Amino acid sequence: MPATPAWPPKSLPRLFVPGPLGPGVSLELDGGQANYLGNVMRLKTGDQALLFDGASGEWLARVSDAGKKRMTLTIERKTGDQEAVPDCWLAFAPVKRSPTDWLVEKATELGVARLMPVITRRTIVERVKLERLEAIAIEAAEQCNRTSVPHIAEPLSLEALLKGRDHERTFYFADENGGEHAATAFKPGPALILVGPEGGFTDEERVAIRAAPNSIAISLGPRILRAETAALAALAIYMAVAGDWLVAP
Ligand code: SAH
Repeated sequence: MPATPAWPPKSLPRLFVPGPLGPGVSLELDGGQANYLGNVMRLKTGDQALLFDGASGEWLARVSDAGKKRMTLTIERKTGDQEAVPDCWLAFAPVKRSPTDWLVEKATELGVARLMPVITRRTIVERVKLERLEAIAIEAAEQCNRTSVPHIAEPLSLEALLKGRDHERTFYFADENGGEHAATAFKPGPALILVGPEGGFTDEERVAIRAAPNSIAISLGPRILRAETAALAALAIYMAVAGDWLVAP
């Protein structure tokens, strides 16, 4: 007897759409999303897709009207509950455009809840295109089966980050000059991981960060990692030892 395939089949297109979603809700997609479903995925009336809105979980929907520039779908049933990704935020000094794009995509796949661009003394990129980064985060969430999309905050200065942060949220500072072993330093609970720019942190910044309440300097090994590599490595270790990669037996 062949095993029954997992349901819904993984090959269904999966889209982040504006909510609220619920049984029987019909929504009309236009622009890029209609084009993707209609012309890229070639969905016709009666075909199915998976939809999520970032708040109510994932839903199976059926195309009720397929047009060239717009597409109407009607929701049939819920296929997944709204997940709670670990309460882990990543503050990063933006680097050049494509490594920052890459960092946002990978951090989303790894399960980050919030991304905070931080301007430090040696940050070379002062402006980030938030809309662009949000689109990258949405696409990564669609691909990796998240039902939540990480929030991307407006850029803020390191001073503002230090002044405004909630001291209950453990502040892990990736320090290329050394720190605690990340695998033992990370503990479950609200976390803020900070990664510096290509030029690293200035000594003054390092002193200010280390003086911040509930802050822990972490080492990511003996080599100097690019900022985006450090962000990825720190998040992977956090998710493995303190996040949701530990699947209950
Ligand atoms: N230009 C600096 C390195 C900056 S690397 C120098 O040559 O010293 C960019 C950021 O990645 C750093 O600010 C730090 O946050 C992180 N990082 C890189 N390697 C690291 C390591 N081995 N341990 C901890 N953090 C690291």
